[in-house]
This record gives sequence, C-alpha cells and structure tokens, in this order.
Amino acid sequence: MKCPVCNSELFAVKYHGLIVDTCKRCGGIWFDPDELRFYIDFFLQDNPDLPPPPINHNKKTLPVVQSPDYQKLCPRCGVPMRMFNYACDSNIILDKCPRCDGIWTDGGEVKQLAQFVKGNPHLDALGKALAEHTKKLDAIKDWTVLSRDFSQSAGYKVFLPKIILPIASEPLTLVVPKVVFAIILINVAIFTYQSFYVEDIVRFFYQYGLIPRVVASGKQYYRFLSSMFIHRDLVHLLGNMFFFWIFAHNVEARFGHFRFLLFYLLFGLCGSWLDVFTRIHSSVPAIGSSGAISGLMGAYLVLFPRSKITTLIINQAIRVPAFLYLGVWILWQILFGMLYASASFSPPVSWFAHIGGFMSGVVVAGLFRALQKKHGEPDSPFPQIIRGLH
Ligand SMILES: [Zn+2]
Ligand SMILES: [Zn+2]
Repeated sequence: MKCPVCNSELFAVKYHGLIVDTCKRCGGIWFDPDELRFYIDFFLQDNPDLPPPPINHNKKTLPVVQSPDYQKLCPRCGVPMRMFNYACDSNIILDKCPRCDGIWTDGGEVKQLAQFVKGNPHLDALGKALAEHTKKLDAIKDWTVLSRDFSQSAGYKVFLPKIILPIASEPLTLVVPKVVFAIILINVAIFTYQSFYVEDIVRFFYQYGLIPRVVASGKQYYRFLSSMFIHRDLVHLLGNMFFFWIFAHNVEARFGHFRFLLFYLLFGLCGSWLDVFTRIHSSVPAIGSSGAISGLMGAYLVLFPRSKITTLIINQAIRVPAFLYLGVWILWQILFGMLYASASFSPPVSWFAHIGGFMSGVVVAGLFRALQKKHGEPDSPFPQIIRGLH
C-alpha cells in the first residue's frame, strides 16, 4: 500500500495488538474500519498527561470543503476519499474511503483526536463510533441506534432483545449431556481465570481473540479456537451459556457425545470464518462462543422443528414451535447483519458469526438426518423419547 499523501510505501506497525499502516516519511496513519477509536483509546492510555484541547468559546463547526482538484486516494482501493469532520464538530478534518470505510489521518492528527476525545468525557463509545459514520448511515440511523439499545440492554451478545427471550426447551431425552457440561465448565473456568488473574484484559483479548487481519495472513490459527472460549464480561458469558444450555442438550443427545463436540467446534469455526471474511482487514478482535451456539440453533431447527420453545414475550411465557422461534431469530440476525454491513457501524454483536454458525448447523444436521434415514434408522427425534414429561 502507498501513502496517499507522499506516495511512499506504508509499513504495518503493531500498536497494543492493533495493526495499522503508517507512512514513515509524512507520519500519516491508515485505519481500517473500527481501528481508529481503539487506537485513540490506547493512545490516551499511553499518554495520560496529554494536555486538554484549547478552549474555544466561540466554537463553530467548520464546513467541510472538498477541493475538486486535490483528493487523496484510498491506499486500499484507490478510489478518491471523502473529507469529513470527526465526531461532526471536532473540526479535525479526516479522509474516509467511501468504498472500504477506512480512515486516513495525516501526521499529528491522531494526537489532536486524542485531545478532542479526552476533552469530552461525555463522548462515550457511541460518540466515537458515530464519528466514523458516513452519510449512508443517516438514513438508517434510527435502526442502528434501536438495535444497539436492544442488544446492549441485554448484554453485548445476548441473541435477541429480552422481550423475546427463550426460557426453556422441551426435555426430550434422559441422556446426560456430558459434553455440554464440560464446555460450560471450560468457559466458566476461563472466565474465572481472566477475572482474577489477568491484569491487562484488553491485551488478553488481543492475544486470544479472533483478529481477521492476523489469521487472514496465514498466522496464529489457534485464535479460531481460543476466541470461542473467552467472553468479554459476566453478562456476555451468562447470556451465551444460557442460550447454549437451552439449545445444546437435546442436540447432544441426538448427535452423540463425540460428534456433538466435533460439530460444536466446526460450527464455531464456520461462524468465525464468515466473521473474518466480512471484515478481512480489521485488527479488532472478536470473542465469544456465539458462532458455535448459533450452529447448535441451526441444528436444532433441522432436528426438532416442531418441539416447543418456552419463550418470554414481554411478560408472558408462551410455547412456540422451534421452527418459528429459530426462523424469526435467524431473520433477525440477517437483517441486522445487512444493516450493519451497509452502515459500516462497529457492531456490538458479531451478526455474521451468528449467520455463518447457523448455516453450518443447518447443513450438518440436514446431512446427518439424511444419512440416518438412508441407513434405515427411525426418524424419530430420539431412540428413547420420554412421553408425558411435559
Ligand atoms: Zn506519506
Ligand atoms: Zn478504500
């Protein structure tokens, strides 16, 4: 990649686990989507004594004037970038690529940005993310804000807003879900470890999370596995384990213990793969088991379409068929996945990991069912169904 200002070669530089491309001659830095706000956070951590920005009592928002004869070209896609005012009123004018949504900062601008962010304690993560919006987003801003409120109020990665929360699936079998217990135990153990023994949690996430840019370059494939077993916080862990429990135990009984473990890891891999594929240049890590759990939900849809899921809708628990619950769920994921993709908004939820996981679950369970039928095994959900238990 070439510097859009002085045309010298850009160098990949690692900063707290982020990988950004910098120009050694003019000091400019290229940020792929989402990287800038993380970079600023790290910069502020490293420079606690950064002076606040000068106070301007007559602050006006500068108009962004795009000169027709001088446009920087995106170092990734080569198309002309558009200038924009960071956070709408910072008066720090940056360049953004309309195609890949990466951001170019000239030398020294990162420091100005950090000062601006520091001087605005009320500018929370939302503000920083909003600053990276393009005009494209304005039309659907209400939707993304709405979905963010929903998804964050129920934790980062709880799968649906809490007004439509599943609370139980039908117990269809007496088989003890050993692997389900083991996976929950591992997740809880890792979370306990990270809560009590890891000093720099952000570093931990960068070490073990799934960073598309790193794995796409053919390195550190262990991240596919490690990222599946770590969670951001207690809400994230509980949300995921709750969904895991509801959909996993019947699936384990049906698949058999060993196959269940294998498929669980495979679903996680497929979800991660789609996540990597949809943000291939990003060096922001993704963590959590939701891709694998989505795979189980896909498998559940194929294996037990008519079994009932007890679902909390507003304040009433009703029993809905699994195909209805899961159908609505996956449509929801696709809707928001597409919305976020078109908005280039940093999602709190890995919609695409959910979609990739779910699809792989549907395919694998479909093949499994077809093979069983072919071998003349009964197509009942289980060899021994408990009757009259529910
Ligand atoms: Zn340069
Ligand atoms: Zn671009």
